[in-house]
Amino acid sequence: MAILNIVKDGDELLRKKSRPVEAITPRIEALIGDMIETMRKANGVGLAAVQVGILRRLVVIETEEGNPRCFINPVISERKGSDEGVEGCLSVPGVWGKVERPSEITITYMDEKGVTHTTVETELAARCLCHECDHLDGILFKDKATEFFSREDLEEE
Ligand code: ZN
Repeated sequence: MAILNIVKDGDELLRKKSRPVEAITPRIEALIGDMIETMRKANGVGLAAVQVGILRRLVVIETEEGNPRCFINPVISERKGSDEGVEGCLSVPGVWGKVERPSEITITYMDEKGVTHTTVETELAARCLCHECDHLDGILFKDKATEFFSREDLEEE
């Protein structure tokens, strides 16, 4: 496995729409492993493939420590409730923002073995998946944030 370079805000790649993953090839399997390692090394809870320069609809999250999950070609079919929370992004270092997200989502995706699942996700997993799925359409959290914070702001709270 390898630590990948994270694409930063300002790079036009982050504004492009990612294409579906057509098959789980050894290359995709390796990418998943590298993305999980890269996310952990950067202390993130989520990472989309576009953030490591690959325009494919693939995200990894680790909202529960020790339980990384992979979502291939994810589609959010239902959004319920509303919750405001502070988000950051490995591609937008040093900036956090308050973003409104649904408190519960229904998401359909393929796992790393090619099995399709439909699950209901809540709280941090719902927020994180909304943030990562936005990346697949070229959207960043800062486009939706209503208030911005620096590291110092957050440390004061
Ligand atoms: Zn992000």
